Amino acid sequence: MSGYVGRAVLDLFIPRLCVVCGRSLSLREEHICLDCLADLPRTYYSKMPRNKMADRFNELIQRDAEVPEPYSYATALFYYRASTGYRDITKGLKYKGDIASGRFFSRMLAEEIAGSSLYSDVDTVVPVPLHWTRRWSRGYNQAEVIGETIAIRLGASLRLDILERHRRTKTQTKMTIERKEANVSDAFRLKKRADLSGCRHILLIDDVFTTGATVNSCRKVLRGIADSEMRISVATLACVGD
Ligand SMILES: [Zn+2]
Repeated sequence: MSGYVGRAVLDLFIPRLCVVCGRSLSLREEHICLDCLADLPRTYYSKMPRNKMADRFNELIQRDAEVPEPYSYATALFYYRASTGYRDITKGLKYKGDIASGRFFSRMLAEEIAGSSLYSDVDTVVPVPLHWTRRWSRGYNQAEVIGETIAIRLGASLRLDILERHRRTKTQTKMTIERKEANVSDAFRLKKRADLSGCRHILLIDDVFTTGATVNSCRKVLRGIADSEMRISVATLACVGD
């Protein structure tokens, strides 16, 4: 069995539901119903060298810059709004093991990035790592799922041999910005034998961009072994604030 027939039979046993509104999907719909897809609060940041997310990230970079470095681009597929069902896209990937829908939305983001000249020289994709105990208990790293999809689409290499999280950090959802920064600073370090020679443009990947503190901590570690000309940009599925 394949295609619609197989799906129709499967739907009798396990109804497929829209990740956003929860209603049953028609045979033509995948992971999200057409109504919710039409209303997905997309940022279209991939085409904008400057946007609110990039401003926030570059502000952090400027604050601790010792030497000038290339401007970082930043993009996200959609705006994260806690009050809407769209938050369930990233929650499903992070907490419910919904890797298939995570890949689906990652492909949308990957398409957008692949169509933007800003990211055409990206050769390296680095997902924000989880602490190994958390990766082990969850069974996967959500940032890796997103990063893998993007790396395949861009023809870039997915590098899991560069960064590691050596400190378990507390869940950040209810912290202030200052607490978040303190929580993640020094949480990451280079893996033994990490080597970025020859890389021109790194894309750091996370599921949600809030204050930028997490990706900025990763960026600082990468900067330690990166060529000063190398650009470090960010892509996430969702970005808080609009
Ligand atoms: Zn829906």
